[in-house]
Amino acid sequence: MRKLNDIKKQKNIALIAHDGKKVQLLNWVKKNKEILSKHFLCGTGTTVRMIVEETSLPIMAFESGPLGGDQQIGASIVEGKIDFMIFFWDPLSSQPHDPDVKALLRIAVLYDIPVATNVSTADFLLNSNYMDTEYIRKNPEDGSV
Ligand code: PGA
Repeated sequence: MRKLNDIKKQKNIALIAHDGKKVQLLNWVKKNKEILSKHFLCGTGTTVRMIVEETSLPIMAFESGPLGGDQQIGASIVEGKIDFMIFFWDPLSSQPHDPDVKALLRIAVLYDIPVATNVSTADFLLNSNYMDTEYIRKNPEDGSV
């Protein structure tokens, strides 16, 4: 099996926010626009549309989350096409696509990609020294090694 565990200097970052968290993500993206512009960005449909309207960042859009966008992002993580995720999920409202959300978070852990689910973690991640270097993450088949 191909080893896709090299997170390159230029990262493939997925941006996702539930409706109750979209403004928070938008403000975080605006604040960090300069750093984010150095990486490849993608995200779920509605989140991307909102960011594109408010910033000039180029972002590749998947389907909207409830329409399968979370599953597409999960599949891209498995394929090694996404290696970094900012996912502001809403802890105060239930989602119709909750099984997809859970599956996406599971795949992100399994493939050992950096994930931020709130503003402070996103700030810490984006200001990590690893943002400017390559990083070798764990392969799922490596188990506990
Ligand atoms: P959206 O999807 O960006 O299309 O709203 C986000 C989500 O609920 O996963």
